[in-house]
Amino acid sequence: MERKLVVGNWKMNGDLVGNQALFEQLVGRSPGSVDTALCLPFPYLAQGQRALSGSATMLGAQNLSEFDAGAYTGEVSGAMLADFDCRFVIVGHSERRALFHEDDLLVARKARAALAAGLAPIVCVGESLVEREAGRAEDVLLRQLDALARVLDGASLSRLVIAYEPVWAIGTGRAASPEQVQAILSFVRGWLARHVVDSRAVRVLYGGSVKADRAAALFSLPDSDGGLIGGASLIAKQFLEICEAAA
Ligand code: PEP
Repeated sequence: MERKLVVGNWKMNGDLVGNQALFEQLVGRSPGSVDTALCLPFPYLAQGQRALSGSATMLGAQNLSEFDAGAYTGEVSGAMLADFDCRFVIVGHSERRALFHEDDLLVARKARAALAAGLAPIVCVGESLVEREAGRAEDVLLRQLDALARVLDGASLSRLVIAYEPVWAIGTGRAASPEQVQAILSFVRGWLARHVVDSRAVRVLYGGSVKADRAAALFSLPDSDGGLIGGASLIAKQFLEICEAAA
């Protein structure tokens, strides 16, 4: 992919007043040559829809239900997200896998639900520190990716965004090294080449403690299409500098 994609994941942060200030600092300021999106908590999607309308920054959510509609108290469907002009939804973030027990197949079904609603799922995959230190990073990635292929056909797989997010790098300040990231991005590309006709059309991102000073090195890796940014997306200056690094 020619254009990089930089996505902010606000996680469970924000309030109406603070969000507005952040939108005002961000909207219209990211480089035109980079695709940008912000994934907000559900209650702020309407605010985000208003603030981002007419701007190049796209809206996204952080989770969705695997179901379409019905007696699923507390769930939010893909169609509901589409109603608020969401273009993206994160699925299978490691926090959801670890804290909310989302397994590989549930993540795949959520990706399917997102696609059915016309959203691009940003599917997070990545190994824990224990798994990396045991030399099992690629096995874990393979298990997570193979689950997607059990639920989605090749045409659907080609509409995913894949975010490699090693669990040990998320929110820790310890980003993976460019060499570690490139090795896994290339592994993901290899997997895609076996499952998708036009695998280069699938965007593959890295996420995990990306800050402005590390962003350029990570984004310029041969198999990188951009980044998923957590903490730094809550600080306008940092997020904009990261977007600049992708330009
Ligand atoms: C994330 O939560 O997706 C993430 C990458 O977080 P951080 O940038 O804070 O490590």
